[in-house]
Order: sequence, then structure tokens, then C-alpha cells
Amino acid sequence: MKTIGLIGGMSWESSAAYYRMINQGVRNARGPSASARCLLYSFDFSEIAALQRAGEWAALTQQMIHAAQTLEAAGADMVLICTNTMHLMADEVAAAIGIPLIHIADPAAQAIKAADLAKVGLLGTAFTMEQNFYRGYLADKHELEVLVPEAEDRAVVHRIIYEELIAGRIEPASREAYRAIITRLAARGAQGIVLGCTEIMLLVGPDDSPVPLFDTARLHAEAAVAAALCEN
Ligand code: GLU
Repeated sequence: MKTIGLIGGMSWESSAAYYRMINQGVRNARGPSASARCLLYSFDFSEIAALQRAGEWAALTQQMIHAAQTLEAAGADMVLICTNTMHLMADEVAAAIGIPLIHIADPAAQAIKAADLAKVGLLGTAFTMEQNFYRGYLADKHELEVLVPEAEDRAVVHRIIYEELIAGRIEPASREAYRAIITRLAARGAQGIVLGCTEIMLLVGPDDSPVPLFDTARLHAEAAVAAALCEN
């Protein structure tokens, strides 16, 4: 089995879910006592979020590169950045290591295309919804049409991530807000919804949406398990 390198702590609420899903996936494939070989580099998210707010993306890129190189030096066979937002510097991180970086949007796009969908709504942080690094990746590499919520809804989605979900707070009123935003995206033609922030699955599930949800954290974790168990 290959060793999975996880860049996490962004936030640890979702990293804990990744750890569980990865180990569950290995157990399902290999038997009850089997578990994943993995390494976790976990950041203090308060420091990361402060740099994001300040627009210090070059410093953040250096931190992600350092984490990836540390995991590689420690014996990881692959690296996952366990957050959608920090894929803003995915190209730089991939170029700085000699092992594969599994991009979080690739397994999500594959699942969307396997479901025969072409137009999806995207929920995530403002960085993910508003900048081109993620929407453009889905559009250019995977030829998907990507809708994002209107400005007011984007602000709500972003605020709930940073004020509640990364702090482990699950509020029924916020679930209702997300349900309404998902319904508006579906009404605009979204055939599915990308949960493009790794904490959103803590708040909403299939029952909260009229169209299929694509949980990037779960799909990313599953891709890591498949790569770790692959013989080549
Ligand atoms: N985990 C989130 C994401 O998937 C947000 C935290 C962050 O800004 O990295 O984008």
C-alpha cells in the first residue's frame, strides 16, 4: 500500500473527516483490521485564515510548498491538499514535488461526468467561488459549465464556512440558508451541486438538495484510497 500525504488543518474539522473516510475506504477494500498508511501535516488554521484575509497568497504558497515537501521527505507517495481554497496554488505545489498531487477538483469532475451532468452549481469560500483557479479548472480541463450563487448568497455561504463550520458549529438556520441557496442554483439550471469546500458536508447532505451533491472531500479521499491501493 502506498503512503498518502495529507496537507490538513484547513480546517481540522474536515481533516478529521478525511482521516476517517480514508481509513474506512482501506478497511472496506482490505478487511476489518486494515488501515491507511498516511502522513498528516496539519496547519494552525487561524494563521492560514489571517493570511487569506490579508491577501498574502505568495506566503501561503510557500507554506503549502513547504508542507508538501515535508510530506515527500517523510515518505509520502502522493499529496492531497485537503481544502479547495488552497488549490489556488496547486500548480506551484505540484511543480515543487516529485510525487503526484491529487487535485481535489479532478475526482469531483469525474463523478459529475460519470453522472452525465454538464452544468453544476459551486459552493465554497468566496475565493473559490469568485476567483478563476477553481471554476476555470472545471471549465477548461473538464468542460463543465459552472454557476455560482448571486453575490448576496455567496456572502452567506462564505460567512457560514468561516464563522461556523471551521469552528465545528452546525446551525439549523444555516442549513436552511444553504438549502435555499442550493434550490436557487438548481432553479437557474444547475444539474448538480459541487460542495467545493471540505466542511460543507458537515452541514448539508442529499436530503437538502433537489439535485445530486458532489462532496469534494469524500471524492478526494476516495481518490486517495484508490491511488494508495493501486499496484502500479
Ligand atoms: N476547507 C475549506 C475549503 O475547502 C475552507 C478553508 C480554507 O480556506 O482553506 O475551501
